[in-house]
Amino acid sequence: MEALDTALLRDRGLRATRPRLAVVATLRRLPHASAEEIARDVRTSLDSVSTQAIYDVLNALTDAALVRRVDPTGARSARYELDLGDNHHHLVCRRCGLIVDVPCAVGHTVCLQPAIDHGFALAESEVTYWGLCSRCQHHAPEPTPAAASPLQEGTV
Ligand SMILES: [Zn+2]
Ligand SMILES: [Zn+2]
Ligand SMILES: [Zn+2]
Repeated sequence: MEALDTALLRDRGLRATRPRLAVVATLRRLPHASAEEIARDVRTSLDSVSTQAIYDVLNALTDAALVRRVDPTGARSARYELDLGDNHHHLVCRRCGLIVDVPCAVGHTVCLQPAIDHGFALAESEVTYWGLCSRCQHHAPEPTPAAASPLQEGTV
């Protein structure tokens, strides 16, 4: 993969430095990783890389459209994935936060047209499918808060 990734970086006008190659390799294995997860993984092969250096690499790769920043879960921290131009969408588990890629139902941008576009030239539509992953569906429901339990009555 390293020769391929070197070519990928050079195609976008970037020098193939070791930290950049390491981040791309990490994203191949861990799509939708957070910057902290990427830093932890990169340090298993390059131990002198600071978290700031990882952010700098991610910004350079994002600017070069080699990496895409996604935040399908909203309130959580941004996740990163290789931008392979495949126009995919995300399935997100409401309970455990698992993110899985699914191909776009129509396969091209923009796959959803708003009823009114207000004159915008549309470039992208993000679709997030929310639900429970198969593992979470088979887990027992989370315990209800103690306050809601009738067993608490009369103990005060
Ligand atoms: Zn889940
Ligand atoms: Zn994805
Ligand atoms: Zn789509």
